[in-house]
Amino acid sequence: MAGGITTSEHCATPFGAAFQLASPNVKAGGHPVVLESSPLSPHGPIPGHGEIPSFMNTSSTSVRINGAGVIRQGDVASCGDEATGHPKIMVGD
Ligand SMILES: [Zn+2]
Repeated sequence: MAGGITTSEHCATPFGAAFQLASPNVKAGGHPVVLESSPLSPHGPIPGHGEIPSFMNTSSTSVRINGAGVIRQGDVASCGDEATGHPKIMVGD
């Protein structure tokens, strides 16, 4: 699954959840890259919404930082939200 790379400040889920685990030393577009299993800030409750608090369930298996997969546009959180991504910095898997 190719998609824009997800950063902690530039991009979030559609409901404005903030990512709480990002690389301190690898950035994209000036913002830390979000890593696998990142918790999301509490958001909601939203009707029909899943688990809150939530965390990222999917990530890249081949593009990794310090052993952790990076989060891309379309990666899914445990609450059902999908991450948004940087419009120009793409991850190719
Ligand atoms: Zn959510």
